[in-house]
Formats: sequence, C-alpha cells, structure tokens
Amino acid sequence: MVMIVSSLNVSAQTVIVKLKTVTNYDVICLQKLNRAVALVDSVVQLPEFERRIRKKITVQKKFRSKKKILARFYSGANVVDPEKDGTIDLIVSTYNKYEGGLSFGRTSERTGKITTHKCFILNNDVRCLAKHLLHEYVHSMGYKHFRIMKGFGLFHKTVPYVFGTVLGDMLDCPTCLAQEVDWVDGGCEPAEN
Ligand SMILES: [Zn+2]
Repeated sequence: MVMIVSSLNVSAQTVIVKLKTVTNYDVICLQKLNRAVALVDSVVQLPEFERRIRKKITVQKKFRSKKKILARFYSGANVVDPEKDGTIDLIVSTYNKYEGGLSFGRTSERTGKITTHKCFILNNDVRCLAKHLLHEYVHSMGYKHFRIMKGFGLFHKTVPYVFGTVLGDMLDCPTCLAQEVDWVDGGCEPAEN
C-alpha cells in the first residue's frame, strides 16, 4: 500500500503559544489561564483555523495582505517583541474592579501586557477566556479597531475580532458576559458602582 501524503498539500503553519508572565493572579485564575492558553495553542495549529481567518478578514486587506497578517501571527512577532521566534509569549495581568462596559480587558501596545478583569476570568467558560486572550494578543501585533467602525458594520471584521471569533467558533464557545462584579475578599461580588 502506498501512502499518498503529499497530495493532501496541507502545510499548516505552527506557533507555540505560552504564558510568559502573569501578575496579580491567584491559583484558580492561573489554572484557568493555563487551560485557556492550551486551547488557543491547540486550535491555531489547525489548517482549518488559517482557512477561516483568510476567509473572514476583509477590512484591512488593502493595507496588509491576509498572507502577511497570518505570517506575522505565526512568526510570533509583535510590536513589543519583533523577534520571529515562532513563539507567542502572552503577558497577562488581572484587575479587581469592574470598570463598566462589555470589555473583558485591554492591551497595552507599548508593553504588550493584556490586563483582564479577574471575575470575568472566573465567571466565564474557559473558551471565553481563550477567545479574549487571542483577540487581545492580536492588538499587540499592531491591529486595532475603532468605535466609528461599528456604525459601518465593520467592527467585527477587524483583525482582532476575526481571530477571536474564528477561535470561538471552532471551540463552539458559549455566550461570554462581562458581569458587573468586583473581586472582594477572595470572591466575585456584585459591583458597587
Ligand atoms: Zn479589542
């Protein structure tokens, strides 16, 4: 029997996704972060992930090609760490107090640090956290979205959203909620603001 492997012509790009540093965490948060990062790592290696990203990215293709966006992603390079070492190093910190709105957190393009509400980590499915981490990481690659895009229906077609949405779809991610909760005395309690 002859195995015809080459005819499949699947040349998946690969990258290692790992937590580099985590600050202001507790043990349960850290366990969940590790599980979320493992989920991201497992899905981004699949050729289907890349295929779906190529299909969905529309807004910024005139600025940078889909091929370049994907090459940059799989190289592990971002604004803070331009080295193409094949590793995505996630730098995560958490915060305790609900700040309003629907955001899980934010990313500093200067330091690459992803800052996430601790209670959103604890109160949502791990797949929500995986989706969030990938979305935020793509911001540190230099891709943005602006509120004005919402009015044109383009918001969710931006590069960070496309990466997060594709990952969420492939994980069959449930609805993720940014609850009005604060981290108080070792637990998540309704926010006072
Ligand atoms: Zn964003």
